[in-house]
Amino acid sequence: MAVTLKNNTRRMQVINLDHSVVCSEDDCRCTRQRTGIQAHDPRTGEKTVRAFNRRLPGSITLTAKGSDGDTVAGLPDGVARLPTVQLLKGRGELAIELETEEVLAARKADAEEAKKRQADYAAAVKKSAEAAPKKTASAGTTTAPAGAAKE
Ligand SMILES: [Zn+2]
Repeated sequence: MAVTLKNNTRRMQVINLDHSVVCSEDDCRCTRQRTGIQAHDPRTGEKTVRAFNRRLPGSITLTAKGSDGDTVAGLPDGVARLPTVQLLKGRGELAIELETEEVLAARKADAEEAKKRQADYAAAVKKSAEAAPKKTASAGTTTAPAGAAKE
């Protein structure tokens, strides 16, 4: 089951995804980096490079509450077990929501409702724009002298 994190604070939060807690065999969110260590043998003076792959954990960035990106959905459920996430949840700075069937259905309904409201608003704006030319023409004659005086 997936998890949603929601920022409850007015500051940005970054959560590091610990591989041992968050990742599973088939879903690893880490980045691999090829790196090497140079070894120097003091007796022979020979320098060798031992190359290996290093795993760099991923992270989640939550922007301030009320902005785009304050909620991140579709995270693996291991994220809820992270000590940092548990601490932030305990302080009330973070909300964790399990993405059950009901939650997903409610979100879909909310999205459709928002889309409908946006369409209604766009229609209302268009309607008022059609009625506006007469209004702005009369208002323009009264506000133009005031605007000119300010400049
Ligand atoms: Zn990983």
